[in-house]
Amino acid sequence: MSIQIKQISKQFGDFQALKPLNLTINEGELVGLLGPSGSGKTTLLRIIAGLETADQGQILFSGKDVTQLHVRDRKVGFVFQHYALFRHMTVAENVAFGLDVLPKQQRPSKASIKQQVAELLDKVQLSHLASRYPAQLSGGQKQRIALARALAMQPRMLLLDEPFGALDAKVRKELRRWLRNLHDELGFTSVFVTHDQEEALEVSDRVVVMSQGQIEQEATPQDLYQQPASRFVYDFLGGVN
Ligand code: ADP
Repeated sequence: MSIQIKQISKQFGDFQALKPLNLTINEGELVGLLGPSGSGKTTLLRIIAGLETADQGQILFSGKDVTQLHVRDRKVGFVFQHYALFRHMTVAENVAFGLDVLPKQQRPSKASIKQQVAELLDKVQLSHLASRYPAQLSGGQKQRIALARALAMQPRMLLLDEPFGALDAKVRKELRRWLRNLHDELGFTSVFVTHDQEEALEVSDRVVVMSQGQIEQEATPQDLYQQPASRFVYDFLGGVN
């Protein structure tokens, strides 16, 4: 499923968080939205998901205008910055919640929920933790549960907001590789937000660099290494060019 963003803008009070911007994300691509804090990455991701409304412009999924469509009907899997797991629910119940928010006609029967939860936990390799509570899990495990819950919604695309932001360096590296493999295996279109240049350059098929509510550069990691137009990337690469 491709994503087309046409002249999308967003203002919070007097502050222009997104200036009118255009962006196309191709079917099957894994795109990293990279930029410093406050550059508008999360706002853009939330507008794609339907969690936030744009002031103007259009969002198209595979050519279909979804601008007015409710988040539930957009078929996106969203992974929040700090996992956003329910503390009072077990791992299995958290994942089942993802099935519960499906539109009524697609909601599985109670009997099949159990089986689907088991399959999803298997996919993220955490079947053995089904009856634990989030507080008993490591950060990396929590994030994989959040992903399983997002996948339960049978999404056609995966949107991840700073998915590894709260994790330590070693786990970050492991999960990066894991996200890349999962994306390839599922054949989704995926967009993830990060302020970490190394992460964006390592994981993405294409990096979209944002600055002050605008897109500064879009390029493959290889091209970004060669010609970083953005100061944010240029400085990270040590100003080698
Ligand atoms: P990033 O993800 O790149 O850090 P955000 O999209 O979260 O940036 O935010 C862009 C700017 O918009 C920030 O300055 C932020 O404070 C502001 N902003 C985001 N959401 C809101 C909101 N709900 N109300 C007011 N200001 C907001």
